[in-house]
Parts: sequence; structure tokens; C-alpha cells
Amino acid sequence: MKALVYHGPGKQSWEEKERPKIQEETDAIVKITKTTICGTDLHIMKGDVSTVVDGRTLGHEGIGTIEETGKAVKNFRKGEKVLISCITSCGTCDYCKRGMYSHCEYGGWVLGNLIDGTQAEYVRIPFADTSLYHAPAGANEDALVMLSDVFPTGFECGVLNGAVKPGDNVAIVGAGPIGLAALLTARFYSPASIIMIDVDDERLKKARSLGATRVVNSVKEDAEARVKEMTEGRGVDTAIEAVGIPRTFELCESIVAPGGHIANIGVFGEKVDLHMERLWAQNITITTRLVDTVTTPMLLKSLEAGNLHPEALVTHHYQLGEILKAYDTFSHAKETKALKVVLDG
Ligand SMILES: [Zn+2]
Ligand SMILES: [Zn+2]
Repeated sequence: MKALVYHGPGKQSWEEKERPKIQEETDAIVKITKTTICGTDLHIMKGDVSTVVDGRTLGHEGIGTIEETGKAVKNFRKGEKVLISCITSCGTCDYCKRGMYSHCEYGGWVLGNLIDGTQAEYVRIPFADTSLYHAPAGANEDALVMLSDVFPTGFECGVLNGAVKPGDNVAIVGAGPIGLAALLTARFYSPASIIMIDVDDERLKKARSLGATRVVNSVKEDAEARVKEMTEGRGVDTAIEAVGIPRTFELCESIVAPGGHIANIGVFGEKVDLHMERLWAQNITITTRLVDTVTTPMLLKSLEAGNLHPEALVTHHYQLGEILKAYDTFSHAKETKALKVVLDG
């Protein structure tokens, strides 16, 4: 089979690789029908993720059909369509029992990291019963593949941890795929306003079309002053950080209202100043989280009911064999206006 293989920082190739085999009785082999590239994959390509070694097949998002199952797999049969969770969970360890699958002692974020991932014709999924979901019949497949990672991440780390409520003022810093997923899922709770902040007018335009009530270009405007103006000087009840650099986290610190939440989603590579000299008396809550994908069943139901349209984030399609071109498009998002790039197997 063919797979997208990492060979150290800046080096990857679409190459022949041995097809994965069942290793444990709880494994399943899935034939990929769609996969996508994540911002995390670009971090890996820069060499930022030290756990990814030379020879690793990348990718942690995808949908496909079951090709083979280990003897102990009960919920899935050959030929069934499945959604692959970006988080692998054993379902029985202490963390899994607490619903914190991201920290599963035998799984967590392993796909395309510690084991071979989904940017390939076939992938081995450990703990298939608890790490795969049945695809709803007739579901839009572009929408479905967004539920591997992007939507549970925006929803759990941003909206749920940020405790978004009806009538709240919400700001989302970063209008990339994850920020936009937070926007679409924040709307479940009908907040009074959702202010999107980004440096790219195209992305802000997209945010508007997806329901942002106000947008702020933080290069052209003083974002803190604009948000204060929009909220009668108070700031926002929830500030969701969806970028992962000190400047954007500090912006969240400066726009959160007393009693508010800062919900971090961004992947940080460096330290950030926490302005306790201002925040100590502000009754705020700061949360961090690696997505647990505990809300995937609920998101699948929203998708089936027509209340969620994740396919709105898909801007480009390529064949799986064109994945190098797809990486190029995705990594030049400013010029190509790429949000999510879907690869068809
Ligand atoms: Zn991802
Ligand atoms: Zn576990």
C-alpha cells in the first residue's frame, strides 16, 4: 500500500509501505476513504513533536471501511463504514473510566504520532470497539471526517471548557479550522455575541458567513479596545484561544470579563506570561485540555439531525495520491485560502 511517511523535519514522501496487520485481538484494520491534514501535522513536519520518529506514517483523522477485525472486536464487522477518532482509548484504564480518553494509559493521541496514522491506504486502529464510531447512514462524508478531531476539539476544549451559556459574550481568537469549529458549536448555546478575532480578512469573512456576530482584524485594529467597546467596557464571558502563541493568549487575558473563562485550545511551543497582577481578583477560570473526544457521539447525532454543518470548513479536495500537493496547499493557507483539505482514498 501507499502511505505518507515522515523522514525527519521537512522531509516526507508518499511511498510504498507494508499493509498494517492485526497485532492485538482488539485491533481493526480500516481502509481509508477520506483523511485530512491537521495543523498538528505541520508542527510535526517542522520537527516540533519529538515523539514522531523517522518512518512514521502521519495522520490522525479519517473515515473508512472495516477491512479486518481482531477476534475480540465486538462492535464492528468487515465492510462497515466508520469514523476514526483522533484519540485512541482502551475504555478500561483509570483515565478512560473518568472520560479522559486523551490521557488513556494505553492510547491517547497515538495515531500518526507513536503508531502509524491515517494518511495511508490502510490503518491499524487499536482498541477498535472504543476508538471507532459507526458512520450514520447517508452522512455527508466531508462533514464526517471533520468529526475525527476538529469538531470535538473546538467543542470540548473551547465551548464546554469555556462554559458558554445563553446570553454570553464570547470571543474566539483565531479563525482557522479549530476556531471556526468552536464558533459553530458555540452556537448550540445561543450566546448573545460571538466576536471572531484574526489577522486574515478572508478567514474573518468566512467566520461572518458561519454566524460570527462581530469580527476584528487584530493587525488593523486594537483588538482589546474593540472588544471592550463591543461589551460596554466589560470584556467577554468566554475568551477561546485557538492560535497557540503568547500574543493571542495574552489578548485573551486582557479581554476576559470578571467571572469569565479563558479556554485554551492552541498548541503552545513557548511559555506565556500570566498577568496575575491584574487577574488575581477577577474571579476568572483558565482551562487547558487535550481533546478527549467524549462528545463525538453527541456531535454525530447533531450531524445526523442536520444541526451541524462541519463540511463548511472544507475548502480543497485532492486524491490521496496527491497528498504532497495537498500539504503544499494547506501549508500556504494565506495564499490558497485553505481551511481543511480533504483527501479522497
Ligand atoms: Zn488534527
Ligand atoms: Zn484507557
